[in-house]
Amino acid sequence: MEREILIKFGEIFLKGENKEKFEKALFDNINQKINKFGIFNIKKMGSVFAVSGENTEKILSIIKKIFGISSISYAYKTSKNIEEIKNTAEEEIETKIKNKNIKSFKIEAKRTDKSFYLNSLEICTKIGEFILKKFNLKVDVHNPDLIIKIEIRNCAYIYSEKIPGAGGLPVGTSGLGTVMISGGIDSPVATFMMAKRGLKINAVHFSTPPYTSERSVDKVKRILKKISEYSGTIKFFNINFSEIQKKIKKLCAEDLVTIISRRFMSKISQKIAVSEKSSCLITGESLGQVASQTVSAINCTSHDIFLPVFRPLIGFDKSEIINISKKIGTFEISIEDFEDCCSIFSPKRPKINPVLRFVQNSELKIKNQDELIENAIKNCEICEIN
Ligand code: ATP
Ligand code: MG
Repeated sequence: MEREILIKFGEIFLKGENKEKFEKALFDNINQKINKFGIFNIKKMGSVFAVSGENTEKILSIIKKIFGISSISYAYKTSKNIEEIKNTAEEEIETKIKNKNIKSFKIEAKRTDKSFYLNSLEICTKIGEFILKKFNLKVDVHNPDLIIKIEIRNCAYIYSEKIPGAGGLPVGTSGLGTVMISGGIDSPVATFMMAKRGLKINAVHFSTPPYTSERSVDKVKRILKKISEYSGTIKFFNINFSEIQKKIKKLCAEDLVTIISRRFMSKISQKIAVSEKSSCLITGESLGQVASQTVSAINCTSHDIFLPVFRPLIGFDKSEIINISKKIGTFEISIEDFEDCCSIFSPKRPKINPVLRFVQNSELKIKNQDELIENAIKNCEICEIN
């Protein structure tokens, strides 16, 4: 029997006049994702998309990861002939009964096509009576073990399961964000969270060859590939940070090395963001997690940055962050043990409450900062990850 995937929108409803723009973005995002896996057709029916094509089951897991969707149903599609609807409902119940202990049911009908000769209540009654005759089940309208949904549109849709969608807003509808991505656990989760709020993602990574290996960059690319299952294509910038990092280590106060490195990373990321027309930075900082993430350290890091810096993990415990990273599949990659430029160059006793004035003074020991930054950007590796 023919099946289609019914996709219901999430918060798009809240957007009033922007609704069309959001729906179009979601439509394009779905189209782009699923057409890698075959030829599918997406049809808009009111506030629902219906996806048809051969073997639609295999793209269910892809659609589950697209932001802006509140729920997904894998529905049978039939004509509006009531006998055919009955038989399909019967088949759906038969498959469910096989796998689960089901004692009660309820029919929920919706009639978008008002010219259909039965109203919602009449559909429920007709199908309900039929089911009662066929199966040893009771009707329970308050707490049924199984809900059979029937939607009468230009054809009839019958399904019983509502799979939760990924929620959030369609990627791209909030603009373009630039994440500072390390190979750690936190920044990938921060990236996921901001993509969920509708940001398309550019990612900047700082590596320090030969102290860090090609494999540590490869690790970051694999993390981003995982995230791209949700966010769509990510433009990746790998900055060779060695020259700047060595200068900081040699010339600046030992206990401020991490903070000053972060300041340079932020400035470089901001420059890249501006040239790419991205309007915000994203980091994986969480308040108090390490010395460089105290209130004063965060103030020193981004004091001279004019773009807004989003830190979606600021109020999260590590265990909460780990839970999300496991759910999105980045955890296993993040814990692979590769050198990280921060750990190699980090001071033994970093300043926990750095004073901005001292940080800025110490940083002044590095001459030609603009040129160093320009060079790093000029020589960066750029690629698209999806
Ligand atoms: P993560 O788990 O993301 O590495 P963390 O808890 O290790 O974070 P820090 O090492 O203090 O925290 O880094 C704070 C933030 O600075 C990171 O979340 C990330 O956004 C950014 N950052 C740190 N190192 C790098 C790097 N090598 N390249 C790009 N961004 C970085
Ligand atoms: Mg880290």
